[in-house]
Amino acid sequence: MEDYLEMIYRICKEENYVRMNQLANRLNVRPSSSTKLVQKLSSIDLVNYKKYGLISLTKKGEEIGKFLYHRHNVIEKFLRLIGVKHNLLKDTELMEHYIKPRVLKNIEHLNYFFEDNSEVLEKYYDSLESIKK
Ligand code: CA
Repeated sequence: MEDYLEMIYRICKEENYVRMNQLANRLNVRPSSSTKLVQKLSSIDLVNYKKYGLISLTKKGEEIGKFLYHRHNVIEKFLRLIGVKHNLLKDTELMEHYIKPRVLKNIEHLNYFFEDNSEVLEKYYDSLESIKK
């Protein structure tokens, strides 16, 4: 459900609405499974959807979608900063569903900290290089 809402938010951010086929494509799922999930999201008032219609976010759906999108970006950035290069997206997807908001907050702070203190980050990368040898 979170993946769907995040993806709907991602697409709606640019186009205001999303079509079922487009959503299924982007999520790499069949349109039938996508329809089921979207109906569920609609039943709990997170998206507007009528059969064969366009999908858009309700106010509540947009709020949650925005948080999910933010969470994804914070984790992806963190993994990139600590030197994860392969399967970055897959690892982000795995982590995002399990992370608690207070932990996310600290990770977000650490991201900023690394950016503001690039010399610390460089030291970290050096150390990372040395364990590879
Ligand atoms: Ca995600």
